[in-house]
Parts: sequence; C-alpha cells; structure tokens
Amino acid sequence: MSTPTAIYVRISRDTEGMGLGVKRQRGDCEALATKLGWTVVETYEDNDVSATRSKPRPAYQRMMADVERGKVQAVVVWDVDRLTRTPRELEDVIDHADRIGLRLASVGGDIDLATEQGRMMARMKGTVARYEIEQSRRRLKAKHKELAASGAHVGPRPFGWDFDADRALVINPAEAATVRECVDRVLAGDGIWKVTRDLNDQGVLTSTGRQWQTQVLRRMLLRWRNCGVRTHLGKEAGQGQWDPIVDRETHERVVALLTDPARRSNNRGTEPKYLLTSVAYCGECGGHVVGTNEFTYAVKGGLRTDGTRGPSRTRVYAHAYKCPNADCLKVQRNMADVDEHVTRVVLGVLERDGVRLLGGDPVAAEAARERISALDAKLALTADQFADDVITGDQLKRITERLRPQLAAERARLSQAQPEASLAEYTGPGVASAWDAADVETRKRLLRLLGMKITIERVGSGNGRSYDPDSVTIEWAGA
Ligand SMILES: [Zn+2]
Repeated sequence: MSTPTAIYVRISRDTEGMGLGVKRQRGDCEALATKLGWTVVETYEDNDVSATRSKPRPAYQRMMADVERGKVQAVVVWDVDRLTRTPRELEDVIDHADRIGLRLASVGGDIDLATEQGRMMARMKGTVARYEIEQSRRRLKAKHKELAASGAHVGPRPFGWDFDADRALVINPAEAATVRECVDRVLAGDGIWKVTRDLNDQGVLTSTGRQWQTQVLRRMLLRWRNCGVRTHLGKEAGQGQWDPIVDRETHERVVALLTDPARRSNNRGTEPKYLLTSVAYCGECGGHVVGTNEFTYAVKGGLRTDGTRGPSRTRVYAHAYKCPNADCLKVQRNMADVDEHVTRVVLGVLERDGVRLLGGDPVAAEAARERISALDAKLALTADQFADDVITGDQLKRITERLRPQLAAERARLSQAQPEASLAEYTGPGVASAWDAADVETRKRLLRLLGMKITIERVGSGNGRSYDPDSVTIEWAGA
C-alpha cells in the first residue's frame, strides 16, 4: 500500500517576494509525491503573512492531529522552513518521526528525519531561518525607536489627519470635528456603543473606509496622538510632528473615563440587552440578577427521532433572570413575565406622576458631571504617578482620601440634578409609545431615575409554571 501523504503549504511575506506562491509550492510538492510513489490524501494550506509572530496556524494544527491519528504517514513540503517556524515546532515533528515513523520529503532538498544527519540538516536550516528573522526584527526595532524620538508618525493614515506630499500628518477638518464630537459625547456620559451606532447611521467611515466598531472607536479615542503626543511601545516618547485635535487635559479626562474599571458597565462596548440585568435584585441574597438565555431540557412523550415511541428530551431555550451569586443561585424567573409586569407598573407611574418624578436640573447636572470627570482624571493620574514611583504610597493615600469624598458629593449632586429635559416625552399620556420606541439603555436609565427597586423573590418549587406577580416586588422613590 502506498503511503498516505499530506502536502503542507504556507504562504508568507517572504515567499510572496520570491514568487513562491501557494500554487507553485503545491505543484512542486505534488510532483515530488508522485515521484516518490506516495498518495496525497490532503493538502493543508495556511496563510501566515507575519512569520515573525506566533500566530496560530489552523491547517498545520489540523495536519498534526491527522498525523497523530494515523491518517497521514508522510508530509511533503517545499522546504522545511515552510513546515516549522520555530526550533520547538521542528522538535515536535522530529518527535513524531521517532514515535510513529512520520516521513518527510522536501522539494528544496531531501531531509530524512530518520537519520542523524537529516535531523542535523533540518535543525541547521531552522536555526539559520530563525537568525534571519531575529536580525530583521532587531533592525526594525532600532528604526522604530529612532522614528519615535523624532516625533514622526509611522503607519497607515490615522482617522483625523491626512498625509501631505511628504507623508507628514495634516488635520482633516471633517474627521477632526468627528473626533471632537465623539470626545464630547463620551465625556457627557454617552455609551461607546451608542456613539458607534450613530457614526454608522451618519455614514461616517473609518480611515480604512470601514464601518465603526465599538473597539475601534474606543481605541481611536484613547490614542495619545489626539492631543499631539507621540508614544512608543505604550509610553510617551515626546511631542508628535502634527497638530493635536483635542487639548491634553480633555484627552486625559477621556482616558480616565474610558479606563476606569468602576465605570466599566457604562463603557461596555455592547448595547445592553436585558431590561433588568444589574437593575433588579435577588430576594434571597440582595445581589443583582442577570438576564440569560439558556437551555433546559424538556421531557416530552411521542415520536423520537429514531422512529421509536417514548419520552425524549428536547432542548428548550428560555430567557430568564437569575441570581448569578455562586453562594445563592436561588432565584430564577421567566424574563418575559417579569419584563411585562415591570413595564406595566413603570408606564402607570410615568403616565400619572412622570413630570414630578423626572423633573430635574440639567445645568446643575452638567456642572456636576464636569467636576466628576475632572476628579476621576485626577485620581487616575495619581494612581499612575504612584505606579511610576513619582509619589509614595502615603501620598497616594492622602490624595485619594481627600478626593474620594469630593467625588461622592458630586455624584450625589448629579443624581439629584438628573434628569434632563429630553426625558419629557416619557411623561404623560404618550409614554407607552415613547417607551416602545426607546432602546434598552434608555429604559434602564428611566428605571434608575425613578428609583425603582425591583426585587425578584424566591418561589417554592411546587409553584408550577404560572407567573405570580406577587413574587416580584416593585418599590420606587416618591411613591
Ligand atoms: Zn441571590
């Protein structure tokens, strides 16, 4: 029986330059397999343009699994350096050759892994390839360091600037205005996902002509380039050779806001999905419930898939709120039932009493928000200074102790001054249609503004399937 053989081809930047595309590699490998009298069972192909990074190679991994399984007993490659990128990977292949007699043939010269000499050849080739990669890496590193020190921009065109004839950055007025608008909205408390959605709705594209994604927008807003700072390897390297779009103080506030773990839920890149996640409480442990969409098994009688009769299990997906606290887990309720109940109560309250309950002071709210942002930024900078050994732990503690109460006071002022005039439509007789049109974030915000305290109580197991409105208590401020 002839040997079941795999052909492995890898496309990478260096082979492109040598005109050694996948087609050529494959053709040469097929010819070699035929010459050896081996039967090709499969061709594995990886696209691996960045040879220096250890990116996973799915086809390589699949092939090595097939080798392990015995489906493949020989591998044909164009050259050994196509097959393995690191000495460690080569040793893996040699190990397979030892254990299961894996055979290897290469177009670029015979390498018999069964002999000492063949292995030495393979290792030497690998070492030379590695050396070359490291050399070019080192040269590149030195070059980048030099460029950073000069303040020059490296890389593709960043959103907000254009290249001039000398590839220097000049402000693109329309895009710079977009950057400033996004900065203002984020500082005003808008969620990243919301700003992203609006950019896409307005047809604003990224510098590469794509739609915005939350992570892309977040990265764009966190670039120190925005305030004219050149960074290198994540550290400030000096003044960039371009005009800033925002001033440094504003940028520091954006960074403080977007990287503050305490405000993560506001900065989350995704649109909130469920009305009562992190809003309603578990009646047993007092923690927040979370919305889930999980399956349970329902046992049904009738015809099974194999044609026989009798009980069978089917997966049933259901939205539910449940207590995620590992020490509790005692509360779980059908989401649609709870949402409907809560919505009915909220709409009643808003229609009757919304004007009074939602009346706020927008000017005071804005002022408080500004002060919160400034304090947040100060705290973040203090923490950074501590991390960089600029200040001592004692100093950090003293500054933090002074700022924390101020922050708490401003937060209290902000919640008193909420909400703003834009909530007027959520009062009076039109409230039901406004609620229907609102997104989940807005609805959650309304629940918070009303001071709605929703608690899902535990129910006994004998309660059957029907929803008991008494098992969810709803209280609100000013009731
Ligand atoms: Zn609980």
